Amino acid sequence: MFHIYCPYCEELREEEEFHPKGQAHIARPVDPEACSDEEWGDYLFFRDNPRGIHHELWVHAVGCRKFFNITRNTVSYEILETYRMGEQPRFTAGHPEGKPAEQVAAEAEAVSRQEGVKA
Ligand SMILES: [Zn+2]
Repeated sequence: MFHIYCPYCEELREEEEFHPKGQAHIARPVDPEACSDEEWGDYLFFRDNPRGIHHELWVHAVGCRKFFNITRNTVSYEILETYRMGEQPRFTAGHPEGKPAEQVAAEAEAVSRQEGVKA
């Protein structure tokens, strides 16, 4: 048994209250009639299956019944964050070690400052 933080209830709840609903952030084509069969098929059926950071849509089915997103590491199963619909994740696949975006930016700034000292 483990707990998941619901960003709407704003508390940790038992995992049994939640259901996964697949990959998050899948945008519906603006004009479905203009899609080729391949494009429409990709939208409907094909999902990413990454090793590492993955964004997933979950629902708090036996709670507030709201949908939200989870950023999860598929290697360790660790849940790095949960966030509301419409919000962007702090942890992204571009940073597979799972650092938050603001930490990566601060480290990049520190490196550029050091390089400036050497020059
Ligand atoms: Zn909830």
